[in-house]
Amino acid sequence: MAEATFHFYGNLNFFLPSPRRDRAFTHEFDWKGSIKDRVESLGVPHPEIEALVVNGRAVDFTYIIQSGDRIEVYGADTPPPTEPIPLRPPYPNRPAFVLDQHLGRLAAYLRMLGFDTLYRNDYHDEELAQISDEQTRILLTRDIGLLKRGRVVYGCYVRATNRHRQLAEITRRFQLQPMVAPFKHCMKCNGLLESVHKAQIDQRLPDTTAHYYDEFHRCRSCGRVYWKGPHYQRMQILMDQIIRDQ
Ligand SMILES: [Zn+2]
Repeated sequence: MAEATFHFYGNLNFFLPSPRRDRAFTHEFDWKGSIKDRVESLGVPHPEIEALVVNGRAVDFTYIIQSGDRIEVYGADTPPPTEPIPLRPPYPNRPAFVLDQHLGRLAAYLRMLGFDTLYRNDYHDEELAQISDEQTRILLTRDIGLLKRGRVVYGCYVRATNRHRQLAEITRRFQLQPMVAPFKHCMKCNGLLESVHKAQIDQRLPDTTAHYYDEFHRCRSCGRVYWKGPHYQRMQILMDQIIRDQ
């Protein structure tokens, strides 16, 4: 029987049983495999891992574990002590997302902040992994097994269950705050919004809205109309709070 020592850092401890958190522990194994498979068998999905260090030296996911190895595993919130080997190409664009069926409220918030966000409550796991892979979208999920799929390159397990905390978590994790651009995507369908003159839509607006607001946007896909009303103001308060707490 071979054995290796593992130490997981920072927010990766979330995936471990409490006796293994924030400390080195020995793990016995009877098969030789890649560090990626071994770390996932201990509970940590590969998209959550940002750096791997074995016996003080940076390695990538293909490294084959040897008996006696000292393995350190780092997540997004804890930089490793040595220059890491990148485990995936840098994310190439303005972040775009695809969300699983548990995260509908978070999807609406991300759209409201101007991020291209796909969400349907009937996506299957295979579809989510495929969309994430083919469209280079960050997969946000509450399903650890889904994140372990080989096709998923960019992904994150959403730890918080409260929707405001979820938004704070994702804003911090992907440093979204400087990229916030309201009135870009429709909260309902993710369609692109366009400016529209009040005269073109005022028969559809409540009287008070038509009276108090002059700037309007309309979804090119579903026709929904948006303005800087109470909904928008609540969102601004929430974002200010998230920025203050960071
Ligand atoms: Zn729409």
